[in-house]
Amino acid sequence: MKIIVTGGTGYIGSHTVVELLKAGFEVAIIDNLYNSEESVLDRIETITSKRPAFEAIDLCDNEASLSFFRKHQDAVAVIHFAALKAVGESVKKAIWYYENNLGSTFNLFKCMNDVGIPSIIFSSSATIYGKYPELPVKENSPKFPTSSPYGSSKQMIKTILKDTIIGENEIKNGISLRYFNPIGAHESALIGEAPKGIPNNLLPYITQTAIGLRDSLSVFGADYDTPDGTAVRDYIHVVDLAHAHVKALQRLVNEENETDYEVFNIGAGKGYSVLQVIEAFERMNDVKVNYKISPRRPGDEPMFYADSTLAQEKLNWQAELNIDEMVASAWKWEAYYREHLQK
Ligand code: NAD
Ligand code: UDP
Repeated sequence: MKIIVTGGTGYIGSHTVVELLKAGFEVAIIDNLYNSEESVLDRIETITSKRPAFEAIDLCDNEASLSFFRKHQDAVAVIHFAALKAVGESVKKAIWYYENNLGSTFNLFKCMNDVGIPSIIFSSSATIYGKYPELPVKENSPKFPTSSPYGSSKQMIKTILKDTIIGENEIKNGISLRYFNPIGAHESALIGEAPKGIPNNLLPYITQTAIGLRDSLSVFGADYDTPDGTAVRDYIHVVDLAHAHVKALQRLVNEENETDYEVFNIGAGKGYSVLQVIEAFERMNDVKVNYKISPRRPGDEPMFYADSTLAQEKLNWQAELNIDEMVASAWKWEAYYREHLQK
């Protein structure tokens, strides 16, 4: 069975493509390479001995996208990763974020409708909960306005996707996966996260500090009402997250879904503080991370973690890899990337 993966050369996309190929699916990737590199295809091939089809196309370009979809109209589903994803950047560049994330999704839906692909899995995010009044966060927890155009774009796409599925068109069903904090890398260290410029996220900042690219990590706030005062998040290994996509896909293609549009939290269900992540990283990798306590980062919540019981019950999925495996794989990837891939 063929699956079209948008954003498939990116961080989560590339790990998911590996698991799809391993599970026996055929894959066709569409990605404009804005935040990824074509060489990831070679590394996917090294890991899986299979090479996905690929075209460098901007999903906002309807004509080029449609020609790609016509070539792959035998696909049974789309996994839609393609998006701009930097929360802080989206506040400064709102028009661009809305244009890219919504525009690409509109075109995608039109292409799917034109060629008749019935199923979609959408990359949603824990950011769509906005402020988190209850922990752990459940799928039906109240949603509040998000603090960024990025988060709002994810909320809007949810509405558009639901309405599209209800409407009269070829897109018949979909699953949104709400990721918590994906980190880590494939055990081969051949693929991983390589942010452009100064990282915003904790793990890339830690690995880049440990390898000497950054002087010091700023720990944003040590006065939260949490066990050690630093903020707590639900970190999820990217390979576990990739497995969740395969399970969600199997649910749709095997027609096991209970409603046409379903939503699952994908988290480990366990919170770690910033200091606990640093401790695990130093212990597992035998390397020091320079850090200093800094003021809170505006917009950050003290704590959030997922209730992923629904994914466990309905997708038969749960996180398998622990925080030690996450930080060890992230470090192995950083070392490989700096030695072999950095230009
Ligand atoms: P990524 O930037 O590594 O991958 C996204 C890919 O989409 C990139 O390869 C980029 O080149 C491509 N892309 C962007 N706009 C495109 C367009 N118009 N046309 C074609 N390709 C385009 O990001 P990621 O971390 O792998 O995230 C994948 C998805 O998961 C995104 O939708 C993101 O919002 C979502 N998500 C990510 C996180 C996270 O922490 N990484 C958390 C929650 C949700
Ligand atoms: N964080 C930090 N220093 C950094 C980056 C992040 O202390 O340089 C903290 C941040 O305040 C949050 C946690 O690490 O509590 C995870 O942040 P990240 O940006 O990775 O993900 P978020 O949960 O904000 O989406």
